Amino acid sequence: MYVVLLGLPGAGKGTQAAILKDETGLPHVTTGELFRENIRQSTDLGKKAQPFVESGRLVPDEITIGMLLDGISQPDCAGGCMLDGFPRNVEQARALDEALAAQGKRLDRAIYISVDTDELVRRLSGRWSCPNCGAVYNEISLPPKIPGVCDNCGSRLEQRKDDRPEAVRTRLEVNLKNLEPLLGYYRAQGKLCEASGEGLVEEVTRAVRACLERER
Ligand code: AMP
Repeated sequence: MYVVLLGLPGAGKGTQAAILKDETGLPHVTTGELFRENIRQSTDLGKKAQPFVESGRLVPDEITIGMLLDGISQPDCAGGCMLDGFPRNVEQARALDEALAAQGKRLDRAIYISVDTDELVRRLSGRWSCPNCGAVYNEISLPPKIPGVCDNCGSRLEQRKDDRPEAVRTRLEVNLKNLEPLLGYYRAQGKLCEASGEGLVEEVTRAVRACLERER
């Protein structure tokens, strides 16, 4: 099963994909994390992507699409995967459809996790993540047990550069502009399902799971 999780930054795509990965066995492929890993390791791709990622702009499609298609052609994705952060525009959605079709596969479902933008600004500005294991916390809704320290691995938490206020504004603007056409693309294919991303993490998981089950 191939699934894409759509939603504005901070909607909870990563959190839900991590939970559902254990439940469904679907690997979680996230372009944001692939970029951050390449930046940490100073690869050529990382150097090209860094100015875009840190200022909250989209990395150009010619870099992003190749990286993602490479990711989903790995053996662990042969039976399906859950994509988070890709596609972010209609061109990327078409490239994904074409790549899957070339392997005789298809995208099964696009799940849109919807959250009001004021709530997103609040979530992103209070978000801290673990650079070591990727765990995500929120100062208000999901604080770590010891302030500034990861519950899972004890590493010092960091605020992503693109979670700072100027970058948050840019990210929301860029993503809002692309969101409607993307939702329209999947609605026209009959693959779109909306899950409310407001409320408790477990409630959102239930809504996303209902979307996944509707397909089967
Ligand atoms: P995320 O962790 O999904 O919020 O992504 C962090 C940053 O990575 C974004 O603000 C973009 O700069 C870049 N990025 C992630 N996914 C994509 C994509 N599909 N297309 C272009 N840029 C992306």
